Formats: sequence, C-alpha cells, structure tokens
Amino acid sequence: SEPLNFKQEITCVFGHPVAENPTQAMIEAAFQHHNLEWRYLTIEVYPQDLEAAVAGMRAMNFRGGNLTIPHKVEVIQYLDRVSEAVSVMGAVNCIIRDGDELVGDNTDGKGFVESLKSVTNPKGKSIVMFGAGGAARAMAVETAFAGVTKITIVNRSVERGEALAKLINDKTDCAAEFVKWDGDYQVPAGTDIVINSTSIGLYPDVDAKVAVDLSTLTPEMVVADVIPNPPRTWLMKEAEKIGCTTLDGLGMLVNQGVIGFKLWTGVDPDTSVMRKALEDVFEA
Ligand code: NDP
Repeated sequence: SEPLNFKQEITCVFGHPVAENPTQAMIEAAFQHHNLEWRYLTIEVYPQDLEAAVAGMRAMNFRGGNLTIPHKVEVIQYLDRVSEAVSVMGAVNCIIRDGDELVGDNTDGKGFVESLKSVTNPKGKSIVMFGAGGAARAMAVETAFAGVTKITIVNRSVERGEALAKLINDKTDCAAEFVKWDGDYQVPAGTDIVINSTSIGLYPDVDAKVAVDLSTLTPEMVVADVIPNPPRTWLMKEAEKIGCTTLDGLGMLVNQGVIGFKLWTGVDPDTSVMRKALEDVFEA
C-alpha cells in the first residue's frame, strides 16, 4: 500500500492587492482534475516584504508561484536566474523551482502566442498593438520571438510607447514603430493582427471603447483582446460582426496558467477544465 502522505506541494501568487486575483480557482481546478496533492495559495505580500516572502518560498520548499502587481519587476533581484524573455522585458510573473534554484519566467506573452498559434502562424506577420504597459511588453517581446516581423505600437502616452518600440528594435529581429494614439486609429491595410493590450473594457467599465476606426478592420484580420473579464468586450463584439477571427483575454489568461502549471508539475493540464473554472468565476 502507498505510504501515508499529509503534505501538499505548495504554489502561490504574491500580490498587493491580491484578493480579487482569480488564478487560484483555475489552477486548483486542474490540481483536483489531475489528482495532484498540490495547493495554490493567494497571498497578500506588501512591497517592503517581498524579499522576506521569496526567502519564505525557499525555506518552505514552495514548488513555484506567480507574481502580480506590484512585484513583477522588483522580484528579479531575489531570484537565481531568469529566462531569456525576462532578460529582455524585465518582468517576471512566474517562478519555477529548479532544484535549489528559483527561476523567473514570464508566461503572459507566451500564453498569448499559444492562443495566436491556434488560429495563425505568427511568422512574417504584421501587428498593430494598442497599449505599451506590462501586458503589451510581454506580448510584443514574445510575438517578436515567435517570428512576427512588424509591430506598430499605438499608445496614449508617448514615453511608454517609444520605450516599447525601442526595446523591440534593440533586442529582437522584429521592426517596431511607435504611433501616438490620437482619435480613432486607422488600421493600415496589410495588417494581419490587431491587439488591444490596454485595460480599456475591463470590468466594471464594460462599455468602454478602444478608439479604432472599425471601417479599417477586414475579415482577414485576427483581432485579440487582453481583457479577461468580461471576455466579450466591445472590441470582440465589433470584430465578430465584421467577420474577423477573434481571440479573447480569457483564452490568454488560461494559456498562461497552462504554461505555469506544466512548468511546476510536469503535467499537461486539461485546458477546458481551467477555462471552465474561470468562466464560472466571471459568470462568462
Ligand atoms: P499597465 O497599467 O501596465 O498598462 C496599461 C496600458 O493601457 C497603458 O498602455 C495605458 O496607456 C493604456 N490605457 C489605460 N487606459 C487607457 C485609456 N483610457 N486610453 C488609452 N490608453 C489607456 O497595465 P497592464 O499592461 O499590466 O494590463 C493591461 C490589461 O491587460 C489589464 O486590463 C489586465 O487585466 C490585462 N491583462 C490580461 C492578461 C491575460 O492573461 N488576459 C495578462 C496581463 C494583463 P498609457 O501608457 O497612456 O497610460
């Protein structure tokens, strides 16, 4: 018979504020589905306590964890190594234990690329990306690594937009251009993929509109949104009407969770179980 085991393997998310982060529901649904004696804890970590919290992760043999606001950049100094993507974009959202080492990775952009590959091959494609924040940085770097050849960054603030375009031009083989966002943006003909990576449309501001000239969207385009809640944003609904292929933010959120789950446990989780758990949370 099997030896008794009262110990769970521990994973976590550190954040502040963190109470509304829904990742636990998605990850623990998959732990249960795959009969893994693992837990995912949602832990409030104040900024001044991050170093101690990471030391605690080591001391208590946590198997891995996620970072959310405001820890994604600060955590890097407390880790042993980071992935190539992290060394370019400078933000970690996922820690993986490798032996005695804590390794930083970023699954946000990788999750998006997974979603994208389910509908098109990114190689040689041209992207228009609204936004230049944390999500946009991760998505721009990973789509560039995946073979996208042109990214136009459309952003309200010039400083952040220019910084992201420079990062892509300096650190990847993809060509990036910054355009200041002023009125309804006209998507240039020949664009393959249009992405909203701003927080426009996030609950509770569900009627907010991304300033884009809808008459410039065509059915050949893939239109993606990062907003997981609600998944059917104004942009997703309008793009569907035009006949574009759409990718919602819930898919991206699930895929980044799938990548983290696999890195921690070695098990390929059932994606539909994870998506269902989040849909239940968001009542999508
Ligand atoms: P940041 O705060 O780092 O960046 C926000 C971006 O949105 C900036 O480019 C900002 O422009 C822009 N923005 C916000 N409001 C407006 C507005 N009213 N008009 C024009 N631009 C605006 O946020 P993150 O990048 O971390 O997150 C962005 C969104 O992505 C969030 O809603 C988050 O929930 C979602 N997300 C989804 C993930 C998923 O897996 N689905 C993963 C990660 C994030 P400016 O520079 O001018 O301020």
